[in-house]
Amino acid sequence: MKNERKCELFQQYPQLKEIANKGTVLWENTNWMENPETRLFTMAEVEDAENTLQRFSSYLKVAFPELVESDGLIESTIQEIPAMKKALEQKYGVSIPGHLLLKCDHALPISGSIKARGGIYEVLKHAERLAMASGRLKVEDDYALLATEAFQSFFQQYTIAVGSTGNLGLSIGIMGKKLGFNVVVHMSSDAKEWKKALLREKGATVIEYEADYSVAVEQGRQEAEQDPMCHFIDDENSKDLFAGYAVAAKRLKDQLEKTNITIHEEQPLFVYLPCGVGGGPGGVAYGLREIFGEHVHIFFAEPVASPCMTIGLMTGLHDAISVEDIGLDNKTEADGLAVGRASKFVGKVMETYISGCYTVSDQELFTSLGLAMDSEALFLEPSANAGMFGAIRLLQKDSSYFEKHNLVSHLSQATHLVWATGGSMVPATMRAAYLAKSRELD
Ligand SMILES: *Cc1c(COP(=O)(O)O)cnc(C)c1O
Repeated sequence: MKNERKCELFQQYPQLKEIANKGTVLWENTNWMENPETRLFTMAEVEDAENTLQRFSSYLKVAFPELVESDGLIESTIQEIPAMKKALEQKYGVSIPGHLLLKCDHALPISGSIKARGGIYEVLKHAERLAMASGRLKVEDDYALLATEAFQSFFQQYTIAVGSTGNLGLSIGIMGKKLGFNVVVHMSSDAKEWKKALLREKGATVIEYEADYSVAVEQGRQEAEQDPMCHFIDDENSKDLFAGYAVAAKRLKDQLEKTNITIHEEQPLFVYLPCGVGGGPGGVAYGLREIFGEHVHIFFAEPVASPCMTIGLMTGLHDAISVEDIGLDNKTEADGLAVGRASKFVGKVMETYISGCYTVSDQELFTSLGLAMDSEALFLEPSANAGMFGAIRLLQKDSSYFEKHNLVSHLSQATHLVWATGGSMVPATMRAAYLAKSRELD
């Protein structure tokens, strides 16, 4: 980006300067709409995803015995975190009105992160398409069939490739290898060693880059294009990924109702989602707005060094602006969020759907990591702690969001839902190192 253009943008968007200085900001989306619409995506695609996942449930139970209990459904629970609420209030000198709930995607079966939604769905959908096209599978079959050797050797002819900062590669690698595919994961420099080691152990090919996520994705895309037997899972553009993530929304509505929480004007829902390239939080946000309408208020959380979605939405430039353009280095311990350029597809859809974005420092992420362990005996990877700061930012940053949306009198009935996006796969030694770091920084 030319210097002139940059100056122009700084002038037009004063908050951009604060972001360039690594300030922790709350950006409110003035394009938010009560009844948003998009031409880029439909609920029908989400329903297709639900149905596909349902068809695969009998296979998933055979392939992953941990799914027997949930009848082949890949889902996480919600839980109140009252001790964490208290700890946050004390640490940051605020009082959070209403309930503080955690969406436990850090404990999602199979791959322990939000990527077990979108990533696994796209692999399954691709497998189904190939199997059906070959005449080996019919929609009315019992999909447990797919666990047989005949299918393993059938899928062995095909390759699935993906570019990732870690968790998407992990989800696709575990699922793809289980079915019998060749899997090639292009890993950015942020990806943790243990994630690469685990993937190699499962039989995936891991290609490492010295560069960041965008480069890993582009290399993967180019390589996959050379091979007609290869399907590239495109984290920057895939509607299948997006649909897989969106499935969470309807299920969440049921979960809330089971705990006697219904969402309406007097009982608003606030949802805080850690954001990398945008697909995971975007899919969830899309589904939630379709279901809860104007009564759900969604904020994306990004590291101060990697606020790609914040600046993409703020300027309307989406993937035409990168964090490097405003002098940021995209270096963060929140490896799942280390993305310098947002998805254009997701950004476009989110323009009218989400209420805003905020940024968090790595220091805050580690503080939260320690607080969650001490207060709730809960381990969340650094990225997954970004959601903990949503309510705090809204209360802290002289925001008038509550006033503007006539929410003040309803806040005592509000539900704040922190989307915990990853953590249960992190090995014990890494957990100990993260905890030590959180004590040291505090
Ligand atoms: C990938 C990831 C996210 C964000 O998802 P995007 O689709 O990249 O926006 C958040 N948290 C964790 C732990 C992740 O791995």
